[in-house]
Amino acid sequence: MHRLWHSGAWIDRGDYGYLQRSNHVKANRDMGKKIPLIAWPCDRRVSRPLVEGGFKTVFPSRKVWEQKGSPQHDDSVVVCYTDGSRHDGSTGAAAVISWNGEKTTLRIPLGASATVFQAEVLAIRHAADALRHVPTGTRIVIYSDSKSAIQALKTWNYMTLLVGECFQSLKALATERTLELVWIPAHVGFEGNEEADEVAKEAAGMTVYGPEPIVPVAMASVRSAIRVKAAEQHTDMWRSYNGARQTKELIDVPSMRVSNYLVTLCRQDLRLFTQVITGHSTLRGHLHRMRKADSDVCPFCEVGRETSLHLLGRCDCFLTTRLDVLESQTLSAAEVRVIKPASLLKFIKCSGRFTLDTQ
Ligand SMILES: [Zn+2]
Repeated sequence: MHRLWHSGAWIDRGDYGYLQRSNHVKANRDMGKKIPLIAWPCDRRVSRPLVEGGFKTVFPSRKVWEQKGSPQHDDSVVVCYTDGSRHDGSTGAAAVISWNGEKTTLRIPLGASATVFQAEVLAIRHAADALRHVPTGTRIVIYSDSKSAIQALKTWNYMTLLVGECFQSLKALATERTLELVWIPAHVGFEGNEEADEVAKEAAGMTVYGPEPIVPVAMASVRSAIRVKAAEQHTDMWRSYNGARQTKELIDVPSMRVSNYLVTLCRQDLRLFTQVITGHSTLRGHLHRMRKADSDVCPFCEVGRETSLHLLGRCDCFLTTRLDVLESQTLSAAEVRVIKPASLLKFIKCSGRFTLDTQ
């Protein structure tokens, strides 16, 4: 939807035009209303022009920097340090330019929606624009501690709008001047870099006047907002759904962390874990409900109904295994809910309760 919206292909008519089945269009439009970020101007990917920028990118290793120490240049060289910073939910960019014994500082507040990467790129762009008055033939060195920003300006692949604009500014500056873009390690005490870092923090703390976004929204921010909204909706649906009584007893809310773990499991382990968590297993409690067992009483301790919670937290016959694997002799449902799924699976397997099923 986001891609269609920003490429102008999104159907946004009230009656959905000629569409017979408009459910997806409607659902997506409703989603768009809940995430304002989707409608904001987007820092989308654009094709990079197949031209040389005319500037040089240099990536000295950390070892080289350790040996070389802080960069030294004579007064004829224009030296510029750039940095981006995010602090207390707002972003800022900065550039500190030194030339002929004079120092110029640029502070660019970027509001709440800009990412640090965007700030790093914008810092370089503003520095390049500010240096356009420098006479031709001058050597200019711009130091940035963002490898990804320099790499993005160097690569022949696709770039975003902001990277494209920065590339054009650098290209214009490099005309008849010698321009180098050099990576410098951050937080190792290099004076110019530390100063730019401080100024970027100040810029991040400055008040921004005007509506957000100050810069087009990064695709990463859009993806993240959609992911957060989808997780919220999933949790709401999970809470309002009346079924899955046993699963709800053992799982609090949907979790991407747990899902990501489960999809790494082999088929047998995933089946075992799902059976225990949903209660649809060969435990007596379930078999009795399905009229496949005469009794629902636990065949091991013979005390109480054999449910998933009984096996995981209560059955006396698995006290030692529980203590070894889960570090507790008994567990309540609330305690089971906070245990890592990997530990629960380990306990289920170590208990040997389901070994008979597979034989
Ligand atoms: Zn038992």
